[in-house]
Amino acid sequence: MRYLLSKEALRSELAERVAEESGQELARCYQCGKCSSGCPLAEEMDLLPHQVIRLVQLGQVEEALRSEAIWLCASCETCSVRCPKGIDVRGVMDALRRIAYERGLKPREPGVRWFEELFLQEVRRRGRLWELGLAALLNVRLWRPFRDISLAPKLLMKGKLALRQDEELPDRKGLEELFERALKGKGEGEGEGEGD
Ligand code: SF4
Ligand code: SF4
Repeated sequence: MRYLLSKEALRSELAERVAEESGQELARCYQCGKCSSGCPLAEEMDLLPHQVIRLVQLGQVEEALRSEAIWLCASCETCSVRCPKGIDVRGVMDALRRIAYERGLKPREPGVRWFEELFLQEVRRRGRLWELGLAALLNVRLWRPFRDISLAPKLLMKGKLALRQDEELPDRKGLEELFERALKGKGEGEGEGEGD
């Protein structure tokens, strides 16, 4: 894909905001691709992590914001650890996701979108994640109630899943305040996202 480069784009407010929010100096990236070659989600992404970085470097932030890659990123930090220039690629992905969310952009893939929403909803409600509940809710939302159900017995036996999660939340008010603060001024992600 070709991009028209301009001084304005390179120094756009949006490009500066990504740099500021991520705390990264992206001009240091020399496109070696080590971040992408270690990314466990790379095969599923429409743009590889180093391509996302390149877009931001070139001031094409809108393009990066529209990519599905920023939503698929699992924040595992493999890219950040591998980068020979010490760039926190995960932090850049996080910053892009925050800005996209603020603008009402949402992942195109319904599974990713529902996962994001239900994950936050569950954490807000319980103060922690109940994996089995989240998986069940997600399957119901996506009209595939029995997907991966064959994995459940093995995971339960190994103690990787809990049948119940009824631990008391010690500070519900504090958690609610935390969410309120995080969502303040972010428009709760409503806007131009696509439907299922
Ligand atoms: S590993 Fe670092 S320097 Fe290499 S492409 Fe990724 S961000 Fe750029
Ligand atoms: S943090 Fe995101 S972009 Fe980086 S390696 Fe993990 S999944 Fe890939």
